[in-house]
Amino acid sequence: MMKVRTQLDELQNYLTDASNMPGGFAEKLFIPESAAEIADILREAGGRNIPVTISGARTGTVGGAIPFGGYVVSLERLNKIVKIDKATMTAVVEPGVVLADFQKAVEAEGLFYPPDPTEWSCQIGGTVATNASGSRSFKYGATREFVTGLKVVLADGAVLNLKRGTAFSSDGKEVEVVTESGRQIRARVPSYQRPDVRKNVSGYYNAEPLDAIDLFVGSEGTLGVITEIELNLLTKPEGFFSGIVFFERYDDLLAFVDEVRSLSFNSRKAPVATAPGSDLDASLIEYFDDRALGFISEKFPETPSGMAGAIFFEQETTAESEDVLLEKWNEFLEKHQADLDRSWFTTTEQDREKMRAFRHALPVSVNERVVRNKQKKIGTDMAVPDENFPAFLKFYKKTLEASGIDYVIFGHIGDCHLHANLLPKDDEEAERSRHLYGRFIAQAIMLGGTISAEHGIGKLKSKYLNVMMGERYLNEMAELKKAFDPNGILGRGNMFG
Ligand SMILES: Cc1cc2nc3c(=O)[nH]c(=O)nc-3n(C[C@H](O)[C@H](O)[C@H](O)COP(=O)(O)OP(=O)(O)OC[C@H]3O[C@@H](n4cnc5c(N)ncnc54)[C@H](O)[C@@H]3O)c2cc1C
Repeated sequence: MMKVRTQLDELQNYLTDASNMPGGFAEKLFIPESAAEIADILREAGGRNIPVTISGARTGTVGGAIPFGGYVVSLERLNKIVKIDKATMTAVVEPGVVLADFQKAVEAEGLFYPPDPTEWSCQIGGTVATNASGSRSFKYGATREFVTGLKVVLADGAVLNLKRGTAFSSDGKEVEVVTESGRQIRARVPSYQRPDVRKNVSGYYNAEPLDAIDLFVGSEGTLGVITEIELNLLTKPEGFFSGIVFFERYDDLLAFVDEVRSLSFNSRKAPVATAPGSDLDASLIEYFDDRALGFISEKFPETPSGMAGAIFFEQETTAESEDVLLEKWNEFLEKHQADLDRSWFTTTEQDREKMRAFRHALPVSVNERVVRNKQKKIGTDMAVPDENFPAFLKFYKKTLEASGIDYVIFGHIGDCHLHANLLPKDDEEAERSRHLYGRFIAQAIMLGGTISAEHGIGKLKSKYLNVMMGERYLNEMAELKKAFDPNGILGRGNMFG
């Protein structure tokens, strides 16, 4: 039986997310148990023009799940893993399944689901709605690459069943889908050129031709409620070789990353790579600058000091390839002057966990500093084309050094996508940090990049999407939304401000 809540104390947890954006409020919270109940809620809301915000696990960092009035629909009770089929290497899940639970269930079957945002308590539905990615996306791609089917309840309660490969846009301009009840919906595909970056979640997806299912992946709760998801799975890798390697010289680190990036067989070169061979082929390449290492050393005192930065990498292995690969990585790291004596390597799951803890220690220590400073952290999420990445990184470093504000730079360097976190100590620094954020946005756009590579636009970044897209393309996005949600009740405030 569906739960409905109206008391403030019962709603409280649903009024915020990991962005800590203040001011959320709602009239009613619905916790439905089926797509049919969701359709009923939407029909009622639509009839009265009441906005509806879809709530996953609220780990999003841009306020997408925060309501500003109207109804909240939480998907926590649509949480069944419907099936994991080993033979076809596919799974069907309800949206409220928690990512970590799903990954465990999949691995128990000898299978592998790579999308891996660092926050594993998110729901699969939330990851589809934001096209989440993470460190492993370098090799395997973002969530989109794994979505093969979606059931979506539209704003008027109609149901769409979308299968990848069955409905494409005609001459790249219009896409047509048919609801369960036989109604045709035609929508014009936005005509903007997407930036030539490895990861991008700014605005609705487009392509030529566009598969209709892709419109809903990354649509941030603005086009419909995703109520069932079919996913492709991979075979679970036999093993991994992982390393955290330290560099004394920054240029050596960058040259190392450049070469690993170009040698690795990642999702940009082909759809998800298959069996691991015995050549260098990183599945993730993560960066920590010298300041990030300083933060981590608060939790891991064994972190070597005086380093320009570090790289965390992983590669799939098999019993046959393991020794050869260890040898090859060793030679390669020597060539790039990594400090091999003080670097860490492993092929065991236990030590890999330690390396993940090392990676995780960074946001934890940064957040502790933020609490001490009693100021908000300002974090960037931009990505630029490969050829402009060195210039963008230089701009980050030069601008941040000159500012005198505390900062760290870290993240998905394999995908030319780093996070800079600014950690202001007082109101004056906070004001300057916001100003710097605006400069980084402008620089990323100027270099042909995206303002959001993985976190999405939500409510926090809609004004920057405006800058990136301009009025014409925002209007095209609005027209697309209108085709599926004519009264604009779904995810109000997300993307469009
Ligand atoms: C510490 C930390 C690290 C993170 N690292 C990464 C990272 O590396 N990469 C990355 O991509 N992200 C990262 N994220 C953010 C990431 O967006 C979320 O973890 C996740 O993708 C959102 O899932 P959720 O269930 O929490 O969704 P929510 O936050 O609840 O919702 C996110 C958006 O999706 C919509 N939505 C949710 N469910 C549905 C549905 N079933 N149908 C339609 N719309 C829906 C909501 O309305 C909202 O707009 C991180 C977050 C944290 C806190």
